[in-house]
Order: sequence, then C-alpha cells, then structure tokens
Amino acid sequence: SLTLALETSCDETSAAVVMNGRTILSNIISSQVPTHQKFGGVVPEIASRKHIETVITVVDQALAEAGTTLADVNAIGVTYGPGLVGALLVGVATAKALSFALNKPLIGVNHLEGHIFANFLAHRELEPPFVALVVSGGHTSLVHLKDYNELVLLGQTRDDAAGEAFDKIARVMNFPYPGGPYIDNAAKQGNPSAIAFPRAFSGKAGENKFAFSFSGLKSAVLNHLNSAAQRGETISIPDVAASFQAAVVDVLIMKTIAAAEHAGVNQIVLAGGVAANSSLKTELALAAGKQGLTLFYPPPVLCTDNAAMIACRAHYQYLAGEFADLNLNAVPSLKLGCR
Ligand code: ATP
Ligand code: MG
Ligand code: FE
Repeated sequence: SLTLALETSCDETSAAVVMNGRTILSNIISSQVPTHQKFGGVVPEIASRKHIETVITVVDQALAEAGTTLADVNAIGVTYGPGLVGALLVGVATAKALSFALNKPLIGVNHLEGHIFANFLAHRELEPPFVALVVSGGHTSLVHLKDYNELVLLGQTRDDAAGEAFDKIARVMNFPYPGGPYIDNAAKQGNPSAIAFPRAFSGKAGENKFAFSFSGLKSAVLNHLNSAAQRGETISIPDVAASFQAAVVDVLIMKTIAAAEHAGVNQIVLAGGVAANSSLKTELALAAGKQGLTLFYPPPVLCTDNAAMIACRAHYQYLAGEFADLNLNAVPSLKLGCR
C-alpha cells in the first residue's frame, strides 16, 4: 500500500511516498531556512506564500522519484496540526483537493505523532510499546506509545520547548537560525562543567514529575552572557554552549528514564529536531544501557520536519480506518494524543 503525504506545518515544504508504512520511496524536503534566516526566525506570512509556490512541484518530485503516479497511490496523508495556521492550510487544502479529485482516502496527521513515527522508518524491527521523548522546535513532551494508535501524554513543558531554548540562546551568541546545530557543534570544544546552570528537575509534591521547564535555564544563560559583557569579560562560547547543553540533556535524560520505568517499557525513542543533538544521543544511550533499556533515534534528516514521517503515521491510521473528510481543517495548537 502506497501513502503520499504532505508536510507544511512550519518552514519545510515536504512530500513523500512511503510503502507499507515502513519503506521510504521518496522524501522531498524543500527548506525555507535561507529565506527566513535574515529575520532570525520563521516569518509566518512568508512561510505560507513559499508553501503555495512550492507544494505542487514537491508533490510531482516525490511521485517521480518514487516511480509512481497519483493513480497508484492508496491514501493521502497530511499534517493538520500543530503548526502555523497559514502554513498548515496550504498542505491541508492541497491534500483535500488530491483526495477529492482522485477519490482516495484522506488522513489527517498530528505532526508530533509524525515525529515519533520517524523511528518506525529508521528501525524496521521497532514495535510498540515504548516511551518517546519528543524534543522539537515548539514542543518537549514525554509520551507512552502503548500501541500504534494509542498514545498517552505523560508530561510536557510548562514554558519554552528545548529547541526554542537552543534557538534563543544561539541567537544571542550570533549564530544563524536555527541555532541548535551550531550550539551542538560549539559544545564539542567546550567544558560542560564550566558553568553550573540550573537544572529544573521539579520533583515537588503535587507536580507532574514528567513536566519540563526551560525558561529559568534560558534566563540564567542570557544573564550570564549579559553580565559578562557588562563587566567586559571575554566569554568562552564553547564553554557556555557545552554547559547550557549539559543542563538541558541532564533533565531530559533523568525524566525519560523515569518515564520508561513508570510506563513499564524496555524501549525508549527520541523524536523531533533536538533528537539530532549529539550529546543527547550519546548520554541517553549510556543512561539507557545502564537501566537495560534500548534506545532508538532517527537519522538527522528524519529528526527535523519531513513528509515521510507523516506518511508512516498516516499508514497506521489507514490500517485502523481513521479517515478524515473534506471538513478537515488546520488545528494550530493540536495536542499530542489528539487526532
Ligand atoms: P514542532 O515540531 O514542535 O512543531 P519544528 O517542526 O519547528 O517544531 P523540528 O523541525 O522538529 O521543529 O526541529 C527543529 C528544532 O530542532 C530547532 O529548534 C533546531 O534548532 C533543533 N535542532 C536541530 N538539530 C539540532 C541539534 N543538533 N542540537 C540541538 N537542536 C537541534
Ligand atoms: Mg523547520
Ligand atoms: Fe516538527
């Protein structure tokens, strides 16, 4: 069974064809990063226009590279949330038009579930149940995936997402947007114990122990940079990058291991753009190994936004008969576990 999927939730226009949910036949990603870089972040109105200009070409390329045609596709999947409303609408409208014109089933996909399902593309042997740590540009969440269509949200961030903290701090350090990969690189030359930035473990009674908070850490790093500048001190960018990254990674690891124990699973998966972070992958693999847990993560190209992960997720909804109709609309603040 062939799934054609579209992803336009943020600044990547992507279309992919995936066979039986697990084999990528094509995964075309047209990134708008160069367009938005001069603004230091994604400009929503420009993103929507770029998606409109690009989406048909990207679909044509995905079909051509997969060696297939619209007539041979079995279902159309599309991200309908969360994301930028104008950007999402381009994908949703295109997918609805294709579904209507071809008389093929339409499947509305939650973008965050897509990030998790990228692991099924990268690891053929992977099966539920597992705990997933979703760390992306806009979200930080722990999810218990009991079965393909049964996801339970264990906790999420109360303020900034992990990727957001990476990007904001990188911006102050004058790295280009998105700054996560630049911090990752700079940190390799730095000392992670150089500066003791706060870790928000928040184990207080009555609080969800799987919730996250990164705004305090972000402020601490910004204060450190500002006060050093005021005193005219030279700061070591690699040390600040490594110390900040260690503070994020420590909290993510501690909570992910605790969540796996809580859920009673022996597999954990990483998902979302920050899952490409080298320190997170190495340190979590070490911690997981000590607990007898197996860690899975996708290759970097499947960590950030792409339509193949959406096609994979759509396939399992297809098998369950979870179809959308032409009333499907963009839902900018769609929550994990909601479809
Ligand atoms: P969401 O999925 O929450 O809607 P998004 O789609 O914008 O947000 P993703 O594409 O999943 O986010 O990920 C982009 C984020 O990943 C950016 O914040 C980027 O800085 C971060 N990122 C990418 N590579 C790395 C890395 N090596 N280290 C840290 N962060 C990284
Ligand atoms: Mg992006
Ligand atoms: Fe994303």
